[in-house]
Amino acid sequence: MSELRHPIGTFDVLAPDSRRWEALLAVFARVVEGAGYGLVITPTFEDLQVFQRVGASTDIVRKEMYDFEDKGGRRVALRPEVTASVVRAFIQHRPTTPWKAWYAGSNFRYESPQAGRYREFHQVGIEVFGAADADLDVEVMALGWEFYRALGLRRVELMVNSLGDATCRPPYRALLIEYLEARSGDLCDEHRDRFRENPLRVLDCKRPTCKAVAADAPKQVEHLCDACGAHFARATGGLDALGIPWTLATNLVRGLDYYTRTTFEYAGLALDSAQNAVGGGGRYDALVEEMGGPSTPGIGFALGVERILMACDAEGTLAAPDAAVDVFVVDFAGGDAARDLTAQLRAAGVRADRSFDGRSAKAQFKVADRSGARLALVVGPDDAAAGTVMIRPLTGDRTQWATPRDQVVAEVARLLGS
Ligand code: ATP
Ligand code: MG
Repeated sequence: MSELRHPIGTFDVLAPDSRRWEALLAVFARVVEGAGYGLVITPTFEDLQVFQRVGASTDIVRKEMYDFEDKGGRRVALRPEVTASVVRAFIQHRPTTPWKAWYAGSNFRYESPQAGRYREFHQVGIEVFGAADADLDVEVMALGWEFYRALGLRRVELMVNSLGDATCRPPYRALLIEYLEARSGDLCDEHRDRFRENPLRVLDCKRPTCKAVAADAPKQVEHLCDACGAHFARATGGLDALGIPWTLATNLVRGLDYYTRTTFEYAGLALDSAQNAVGGGGRYDALVEEMGGPSTPGIGFALGVERILMACDAEGTLAAPDAAVDVFVVDFAGGDAARDLTAQLRAAGVRADRSFDGRSAKAQFKVADRSGARLALVVGPDDAAAGTVMIRPLTGDRTQWATPRDQVVAEVARLLGS
């Protein structure tokens, strides 16, 4: 029988690498909870409708989605992103606004797997509903920035654009279509036929032909209405005021269609450019209403965990934190002490481990050393008879001493505390 392996485009994470994931999530929770965001947990799959409404004409929804019919005949999809689910949850539960939520979890896209591009990948993100203020755009962009800084990343670039709104996007769109009509022969095969349906996708196309056409295309930031212009000035001025460097990226449109006004992306400059987007987001002031809810502005970002960890590798930051136990119980007197002492230590809040299967003293000491524990508690037949436990440091001078069995837990807690 052939060996079973994880599916193509997925991966396993084992300790100690998984400790970096824990550390990353803890840093993210600290940064966003410190700004008033609360964790939201939504299902990993939804009615297909939920995603079709956010991006019916995008690659993510048209080509990459894991959708299928379940055993009850319902059309469902594994989520390719989380925003749509959070919007669905907002509409369903109507929390008081402004509602600030954060999430962490996996997404599924049927892409060509390569370094930094997987079929199941993980994101952390935030969403805010019910505030149109440009200063919220500043808060959201700054929180992402602060998170990367807190991980130790220094080579991240924040790129910002505005996609306008219902007033200035339609005339810009018409202008863009007009420009693309004249250049349609230079577009890639896919967009030559499809650009009228969704001309902004051409600006997001990674093929060199479309890139060349996009370079000279009219820019939305040069065709904003007064309200969008003022919003963009306040948002980017806020970044300047907070000392956060940013660059104007006039062709940044993002992979989904729901964005309005401010859109942004973080690039990991230490990464290979094909997969260097470490996160992105923007405003989606029309999305809640488009999905059947009350007219409610919204904004958020999603950051890619795998790519962030790759950037951390490239910049030599976020080492796996040490998670060793403090104490290892070595019992070669039958096992009762190992059973009971380990439980008592853990109940007292001491990180403790032990061996099983009655292994030899020598084998147990080997495991104790490997465990990274600072102390071994040793119980041999003589100790068991005398009602004592040997305390033996596992680093430096290993001189051990005897302590009465009923005092050893308190003694260990005292030693570790100092
Ligand atoms: P890209 O342009 O690199 O395909 P995207 O615009 O499709 O990214 P988003 O939908 O904005 O990505 O998701 C936010 C972040 O999630 C990205 O910036 C990236 O870090 C990460 N991400 C997206 N797709 C993948 C994937 N297939 N594997 C790993 N990470 C991903
Ligand atoms: Mg993509």
